[in-house]
Amino acid sequence: MGSPRVVIIGAGIVGTNLADELTARGWDRVTVIDQGPLPFTGGSTSHAPGLVFQTTASKTMTALATYTVEKFLSLEVDGQWCFNQVGGLEVATTEARLAELHRRQGWATSWGVAGRVIDAQECVKLHPLLDPARILGGLYVESDGLAKAARVVVALTRRAESRGAVFQGSTKVIGIEHSAGKVTGVATAAGVVPADIVVSCGGFWGADLGALIGMDVPLLPLAHQYAKTHQIPELVGRNTELSEAGFPILRHQDQDLYFREHVDRLGIGSYAHRPMPVDLSTLPGGEITADAMPSMLTFTEEDFAPAWEQCKKLLPCLETATLDTGFNGIFSFTPDGGPLIGESPDVAGFWIAEAVWVTHSAGVARAVAQLLIDGRSELDLHGCDVHRFEEVQLDPGYVSETSQQNFVEIYDILHPLQPKESPRNLRVSPFHARQRELGAMFLENHGWERPHWFEANAALVDQLPAEWQPPARDEWSAMFHSPIAAAEAWRTRTAVALYDMTPLTRIEISGPGALALLERLTTGKMDKSIGSVTYTLALNDAGGVRSDLTVARLSEDTFQVGANGNLDLDYFRRQSPHDGSVSVRDITGATCCIGLWGPQARDLVQALSLDDFSNESFKYFRAKKVRIGGVPVTAMRLSYVGELGWELYTSADNGQRLWDVLWAEGQRHGIIAAGRAAFNSLRLEKGYRSWGADMTTEHNPYEAGLGFAVRPQKGAFIGSAALAGVSDDTVTRRLACLTVDDGQSVVLGHEPVFLDGAPAGYVTSAAFGHTVGAPIAYAWLPATAGVGAQVEIQYFDRRIPATVVAEPLVDPEMKKIRS
Ligand SMILES: Cc1cc2nc3c(=O)[nH]c(=O)nc-3n(C[C@H](O)[C@H](O)[C@H](O)COP(=O)(O)OP(=O)(O)OC[C@H]3O[C@@H](n4cnc5c(N)ncnc54)[C@H](O)[C@@H]3O)c2cc1C
Repeated sequence: MGSPRVVIIGAGIVGTNLADELTARGWDRVTVIDQGPLPFTGGSTSHAPGLVFQTTASKTMTALATYTVEKFLSLEVDGQWCFNQVGGLEVATTEARLAELHRRQGWATSWGVAGRVIDAQECVKLHPLLDPARILGGLYVESDGLAKAARVVVALTRRAESRGAVFQGSTKVIGIEHSAGKVTGVATAAGVVPADIVVSCGGFWGADLGALIGMDVPLLPLAHQYAKTHQIPELVGRNTELSEAGFPILRHQDQDLYFREHVDRLGIGSYAHRPMPVDLSTLPGGEITADAMPSMLTFTEEDFAPAWEQCKKLLPCLETATLDTGFNGIFSFTPDGGPLIGESPDVAGFWIAEAVWVTHSAGVARAVAQLLIDGRSELDLHGCDVHRFEEVQLDPGYVSETSQQNFVEIYDILHPLQPKESPRNLRVSPFHARQRELGAMFLENHGWERPHWFEANAALVDQLPAEWQPPARDEWSAMFHSPIAAAEAWRTRTAVALYDMTPLTRIEISGPGALALLERLTTGKMDKSIGSVTYTLALNDAGGVRSDLTVARLSEDTFQVGANGNLDLDYFRRQSPHDGSVSVRDITGATCCIGLWGPQARDLVQALSLDDFSNESFKYFRAKKVRIGGVPVTAMRLSYVGELGWELYTSADNGQRLWDVLWAEGQRHGIIAAGRAAFNSLRLEKGYRSWGADMTTEHNPYEAGLGFAVRPQKGAFIGSAALAGVSDDTVTRRLACLTVDDGQSVVLGHEPVFLDGAPAGYVTSAAFGHTVGAPIAYAWLPATAGVGAQVEIQYFDRRIPATVVAEPLVDPEMKKIRS
């Protein structure tokens, strides 16, 4: 039997890259169908100016871009370039932007891209059209450059065709054929094209294509302005028709602008205008030419006018220039700015790869090819997976509002904790009313409102013992932070605190096949007594950590799984047998959870219950059905913060009463409500990892310091074969715990770490450790950097000395938590 029959919808930069990647791996029954004429279909790619700036805050997105650059550099069409590596220059006209460029340079270093922050003079030397008086400096990345997207499409089409792929233009897909939950082909006016796998690479048409099989594709088509000037005298004679450009591509984020050369003219892209959502039913029809395409709307000069004035200020040569052409070009935006990759939850074999820039196109195509052929991608894709969104985030109103906001903020300086301003209050826990009464400072995550600290605890800051007083923070790390977090951490370690754990995803897995499913999908022993709780990992076939889970066995056939989000739900559903022997249910919204933690937790809860909470009767990592103040509760003796205590689960309707009874009794024990800021600090002191930040599918459990959660002796499970022979002693890199030597400089994550003066890793999670009185940072480092190793963390433009220390920093003997 040959390879599966694959139909790719869309012959833009994504579809053609995918055809190339699949055929390169030997899949030769690939058909690419496009509604437009080939090779210039009229989609976004056909007119893309093709600037490729690789650096982002995301390791994955940067890696997708880096691969795209490498691949495009290797392509040509009849001797003409597909990637012109002119370099990329982002300039700063404000001090805040200059600081931001240092932060971006840090990301580049973390992800292995060479970049330098340079002064204004050097910027002008690289790009002489710049006004030296306007700029303070820039970030220069030599390996950035220009992709000739339309030519890449030609190169890849030819290559894929030479390996057997078929390209069919002027053929619109009007339906997706499927049977028994599996895709069987695509319908066109000319008939059905049969397929075992269909991949929609339909760009901004993606939502319409998804709708053909009822799949939500959360993207919004938005118009974005691009204009070209007439000839600029300063550019005459500099470039040939062949080279097109010689100066670095240029970004002026302070005014939402970017620039490139088109031989002797300048191209200008602007995000400075109002968001312009596009209703696809109003797209221009007619013959597709270089100047008339469905993805090109009429240029609205009045929207460009303020940007044009800013262009002249940055590039004085434009004072006397005039605009020649312009258009409002359409492409996709998403609620969080990431691309959308994944398979339909309902129709097996129907995949999407959409909301992808030219910049990331080859990387995304390679990842999708790996997913289709190998079942997993070598890169961590959790920020790209279409299933990362919660139900509430798939609503078209939500998609529209958040995607437009992303357009507005595309070049803004955004703090890692900066919450959306709108929409808010989409999901609130049953404790919300009480939290508001206590002055909660809410931040938002996946639609949930989560308290970060409580103003009601402000008075406690003055009561903090001297050793608990937090040091002053710099302006950046002080944003979305309050010293109240120190008081909340102190009270957790010395009295007792309530933490709202409701937003953490809870999945109930039940039925006669539940145990076998969990045994297969996780690294731990699941066949334990009823009431046992197990911290375990779900791995991929390569032994990479796809999630960490807390599994409580509540009855013979019922397990409650504390998970990391919708991706886990999607995974468990896909992996479940289809014979009805297992039910996988998201119970997050119907239930709620209070983490009751602190040395007083037992006295408090015991006073409210006839059940026995003593250490002998209710051991660490055990679960029990109990009543607390009359409220039916599933109590689990677990603690993310490293203190004695329980996670108390009840149904949503009982939540507020549970809070109230604990609160009333807790007054005698000095109870407080505490937020995520204290939580993060306490969890890092205890060395608890956060999946997605600290480890992903790119890391094995031993590297991540989670080897203790792997039970090779339990027999085969997904990932077990790949871990054969791997141990703590064989790994070459490790998630290491650092403390900052000066005792006060707090970093926030993603900063590069230097060992012996050379970049050696990056920070994953960080916080001030209030109990230990020092900033903590977890970082990926070579395994050779053992305890005591001296390193430096780059924070903006400075290097902060730090030391690798033994972990956990608090209660390594587990006395507090186990007694
Ligand atoms: C003005 C502008 C400037 C940009 N600048 C840059 C830049 O500098 N750098 C960068 O990285 N990105 C840039 N982008 C974004 C980039 O152009 C797009 O993200 C990228 O081209 C999308 O590629 P694609 O293959 O997903 O989509 P497309 O190129 O739009 O391809 C999708 C294809 O699907 C086909 N299709 C849709 N529905 C059907 C159907 N029912 N049946 C058959 N075929 C169908 C369409 O005809 C189309 O050819 C810019 C976008 C615009 C608008």
